[in-house]
Amino acid sequence: MNDKGLSRRDLVAGLGIAAAGLATVPARAAVPQAAGQPLAGVEGIPDPLDRRLRWAVVGLGNFAVAHMIPAFLQSQHARITAFVSGDPAKAADLGARFGVSRFYDYKTFDAIARDPQIDCVYIALPVGLHAEYTIRALKAGKHVLCEKPMASTSAECRAMIAAAKAANRQLGVAYRVHFDPFNQQLARMVADGAIGAVRYINVDNNFDANPAFPPHAWRLTKALGGGGSMFDYGIYGLNGTLMMLGERMPLDVSAIYTTPAGDPRFAEVEGGVLWRMRFADGVTAQGGSSYATAHVNRQLIMGRTGSLALDPANGYDHNVARLRKPDSPDAAIETVSSLPQFAGQIDGFSLAARANTPHRTPGEMGLRDISLIEAIYRSADAGGAIITLQPANA
Ligand code: NDP
Repeated sequence: MNDKGLSRRDLVAGLGIAAAGLATVPARAAVPQAAGQPLAGVEGIPDPLDRRLRWAVVGLGNFAVAHMIPAFLQSQHARITAFVSGDPAKAADLGARFGVSRFYDYKTFDAIARDPQIDCVYIALPVGLHAEYTIRALKAGKHVLCEKPMASTSAECRAMIAAAKAANRQLGVAYRVHFDPFNQQLARMVADGAIGAVRYINVDNNFDANPAFPPHAWRLTKALGGGGSMFDYGIYGLNGTLMMLGERMPLDVSAIYTTPAGDPRFAEVEGGVLWRMRFADGVTAQGGSSYATAHVNRQLIMGRTGSLALDPANGYDHNVARLRKPDSPDAAIETVSSLPQFAGQIDGFSLAARANTPHRTPGEMGLRDISLIEAIYRSADAGGAIITLQPANA
């Protein structure tokens, strides 16, 4: 079921009949068809197929196949028309299952420029390939939603942003948490003063990397991972912290590495890092990321009159929040599901592309985060020195 109470079957069926009839329109929706108005764009009602933004998915890996591709079936403004993969058999199999019949590989990729059946490109490749394929897609005249982290360096991020400007196309970074109803609910509570003025935030994003598992293996290389635990998983804590603080920028950053000594997994990238940020008003944030502990994904927001503990904080679903106040018992808060975040992100980017207006999490946000991670690494390389951020990063 989606958040509108429609089952996936209803939605899929609805796509086929949207132009012909209204059998799957929920009775409770405010539908203006009696006045003869078009349905497309009415909240809660999927666009007919011919009005949807057409997407190519690049890289048919773990995350794309398990989470993003299925989410297109729940989207209202998007559909997949093409797969780009180095594995033709996998692409054909997925094509048969998802009704996709246009295929490209990494050599033929630039031919998407001549394919009018593609409006948007979703890049789900290893990080070290994000910049190259994003820029190629932008040069082909397509809008691009690129997975996080945006790229391996801030220089690459800048080149991607410049390519989007030159092509007059939108570039978004796939920070799904900004489309997550749970995190949106918590951010609203913080902004509305549920815990008083925020004093500090503490985040942790760890898992134990397994070099025998292909999606972890490339994450342990500098060329494809870009960086280590901070790049891949710590970025959720960093980006989530700034989201909860209303996208304020810190004054300075410091950090130390926590890589286990002698662990052969971490010859190229860091196995862990602890960072701190200070903000102009005295608010502080600190976070940990590690590829060398059991899984954890949590956020503690300390306010003057209470605290919010999110654990897990930004998982795919089943995130949990507890509110603690001095005069009341520790209470789990009733929260909404995080599952709509995937289709929500796809639809958000589709609407941005259709209007050619910036996505909620644009390339500039990706650049900000990679620049902050570079400052974190600079500090850790210097044994924890405080790095004052330049106005360009602020
Ligand atoms: P996978 O390794 O499972 O998928 C990457 C895919 O990229 C491969 O399956 C392959 O697809 C393609 N590819 C092309 N060249 C290479 C290469 N040299 N080495 C490896 N793969 C290659 O990784 P994930 O799905 O875990 O991650 C993909 C992206 O998604 C990353 O950017 C990651 O950060 C992001 N991600 C985002 C998450 C989120 O919550 N937003 C969660 C997890 C990952 P093919 O065989 O089709 O060519």
